Amino acid sequence: MSLEKLVDISRYYGSNPDYVIAGGGNTSFKDESTLLVKGSGTNLGEIGPEGFVTMDRKKLNRIWNKQYPADEDTREAELVLDMMAARADTEGSRRPSVETLLHNILPFAYVVHTHPSLVNGFACSQKGEAAAKELFGDEYLWTPSINPGYSLSMAAKAVFDQHLARTGKTAEVIFLQNHGIFVGSDSIEGIKALYEKIIAVLEKKITRRPDFSGKTGVYKDSEEIARRLTACAGQNARVIFERNGEFIRFTRSLADFYPVSSAFSPDHMIYSGSDPLFIEIKDTQPLADQIRNAWKQHLDAIGIPPKIVAVQDRGIFGIGTSERNAALALALFTDSAKIAVYAEIFGGVRFMTRDKIDFINNWEVEKYRAQVNEGGR
Ligand SMILES: [Zn+2]
Repeated sequence: MSLEKLVDISRYYGSNPDYVIAGGGNTSFKDESTLLVKGSGTNLGEIGPEGFVTMDRKKLNRIWNKQYPADEDTREAELVLDMMAARADTEGSRRPSVETLLHNILPFAYVVHTHPSLVNGFACSQKGEAAAKELFGDEYLWTPSINPGYSLSMAAKAVFDQHLARTGKTAEVIFLQNHGIFVGSDSIEGIKALYEKIIAVLEKKITRRPDFSGKTGVYKDSEEIARRLTACAGQNARVIFERNGEFIRFTRSLADFYPVSSAFSPDHMIYSGSDPLFIEIKDTQPLADQIRNAWKQHLDAIGIPPKIVAVQDRGIFGIGTSERNAALALALFTDSAKIAVYAEIFGGVRFMTRDKIDFINNWEVEKYRAQVNEGGR
């Protein structure tokens, strides 16, 4: 059964943090008339048949012919309504994935979209596009950094159609700068073969693996710092500390922290925030004052509290409104650390641009997803 296979392949990639973390990624199956696509706010790793939304492809196709307002916020809001109306079963409240339009475009039975750390190693690097060409040739497509949702679907459709017109072939793989990858095939074996091929090429290319050895949850004054951070974040906040080989490297100095100092993709932003706070520690000043002052300065400058705090010569603190959210902040930061290490061979990291970061911070759809995830499961 196609739905069973769709559930299987979704869990296969969804339960592997090298491909997907928490609510990231989405999958679909389609025939002529219907598209089954992951519901927004559902985790791929634990998804069941009920986690998919059935879409009417005829109604989805109509969205392409409609004129939307130029203002992105208004357009996305209108689009959400049109997507909800394009569901085959409008009874349920479930919202289809924000990438449903792109799933609908790709002419393959199965489409699996993930955020592999290895792929993002070059997709979030300075030489990303050149690396994609060099490693994979012209058969695999590339889209520059684009806001998720309608804009991304439009851009991907354009490169896909151009490729088809030029070569007469449908592209099975699209790399998305500062985001991840879309892979399409008519069988799940085909999907797995494509992923395996891509990962094998990248495994051969990388020269250094991230070092998460020597992991510890307590170090020096980390417990006191965690208490101070909890006081800053509010009494219901949870703070989790981690120190490991890679975190030691990144927290030596503000300069060493640069490769993980901003957001690589929308997903990284949602779970670990766009602006981690780095606190330099001066032994001559009381620790409590240094933490409180750094927190206040950050709040004044950014306007939202940090989900990741890096403390010099200690390690990384994940902060959340629950234990789970604090752990998720750390999990996505850990993924950023992997990407930063892989990006070393592709000319160094490339973060999302500030306008893209601001767009996501304001984006109603992503806020919705963050809320759903915050609700716990
Ligand atoms: Zn994605």
